[in-house]
Amino acid sequence: MGIIVQKYGGTSVADAEKIKRVAQSVIREKNNGNSVVVVVSAMGHTTDYLVKLAGEVSSSPCNREMDMLLATGEQVSIALLTMAIQAAGHDAISMNAMQVGIITESVHSKARIVEVKTDKLMKHINDGKIIVVAGFQGVTPSGEITTLGRGGSDTSAVAIAAALKADRCDIYTDVEGVYTTDPRVVPNASRLEQVSYDEMLELAYLGANVLHPRSVETAKQFDVPLRVRSTFKLDNMGTLILGVKNMEIYKPVTGVAEDSSQARIVICDVPDRPGVSAKIFSALADKNISVDMIIQSYARQSNNTNDIAFTVSLDDVARTLEILEPIAKELNASNVHVNDNIAKVSIVGAGMVDRPGIAADMFKSLADAGINIKMISTSEIKISCLVDKKDAKAAVKHLHEAFQLGCDEIAEVKGDLPNL
Ligand code: ADP
Ligand code: ASP
Ligand code: MG
Repeated sequence: MGIIVQKYGGTSVADAEKIKRVAQSVIREKNNGNSVVVVVSAMGHTTDYLVKLAGEVSSSPCNREMDMLLATGEQVSIALLTMAIQAAGHDAISMNAMQVGIITESVHSKARIVEVKTDKLMKHINDGKIIVVAGFQGVTPSGEITTLGRGGSDTSAVAIAAALKADRCDIYTDVEGVYTTDPRVVPNASRLEQVSYDEMLELAYLGANVLHPRSVETAKQFDVPLRVRSTFKLDNMGTLILGVKNMEIYKPVTGVAEDSSQARIVICDVPDRPGVSAKIFSALADKNISVDMIIQSYARQSNNTNDIAFTVSLDDVARTLEILEPIAKELNASNVHVNDNIAKVSIVGAGMVDRPGIAADMFKSLADAGINIKMISTSEIKISCLVDKKDAKAAVKHLHEAFQLGCDEIAEVKGDLPNL
């Protein structure tokens, strides 16, 4: 008898009928002879609704109160799912992060988990209970409620699986696995049977929100076998995410991802001397702002200055500008320019390593589609291009086709996109 951690996302528990279906899926795993710990997200678009509500009472709600508010969504779904399991005749108990002991850093709105206590979980497991845990939330050592960042329930599930040394962590969602790109954007995207932790990590960080990036990071670190599968087609095995893929001749590109949640910031005409980049990026790092693509232009001979451009999350733009204002003045920069109408489109694949020409193929495909590239960044297994937001979906479709990632079938996707 093993321990299986299951996680069900918002679409999977969107209404009473779906919660009863999830209860049956949990019981099915229990009847296989396993101990089951279930992690759930808030119902449907509850978290989006709560964010909107906060915006209606305050133009700048503080992060502590946002966490207090958003953490309520998951508390509703754990109680309802536990009731549904109990009504079906099985012993179950719900637990929030404080009751389990999901300890995080003292950072609101995107806290990292530092420890998951296992004593209470193990006690309930040993008593034969199904445990239903609130995803997305944590608690600091001093008892403050935190949240892990949007989509963070996946990370709750993997962290619990790692702490319990579970046999598997199954992420149940509204698609049948991880696809070569978002099947809502490209309906003939192909489902991947297997994908490596490294490729999945890149895809998730670059916008494939089927998995929270930190869940993949944690799975990789603790070797948790991770599966993404459909809540609505329980017999399908979905996608396995693991250390190394089976021996095969890799296609150079495994998937295409899009991230429309970033803005580009350019600081114009800063002096071309040592220490300028260090000053700018240390100030941002000190305030916990993650910077993504960075480009420093070739220095202008005439006045010995250059431009530094980088991208940050749209949520961090206001704080970034606040931090940059005094630095730009000190450096005599002529201007700080923001463009929030951009998107990052990326191709990812372990098969790219040592294969020349992939970048050229990507740029040619975008050029053929008349799409202008504003910034480029590369790593061993990914190439990202910044494009205008209006071009992002077309770019994904063209790249998906150019790298021959499609299949004949049309992927099935349940649930609506949030309509706020
Ligand atoms: P959940 O509520 O179950 O956590 P999410 O909405 O967070 O579900 O993630 C599932 C969604 O991720 C899918 O509906 C799909 O639109 C999107 N998605 C983006 N990229 C991919 C991809 N490469 N493969 C599968 N789904 C993807
Ligand atoms: N409910 C949270 C969100 O919508 C966490 C999650 O779904 O994983 O972001
Ligand atoms: Mg999710």
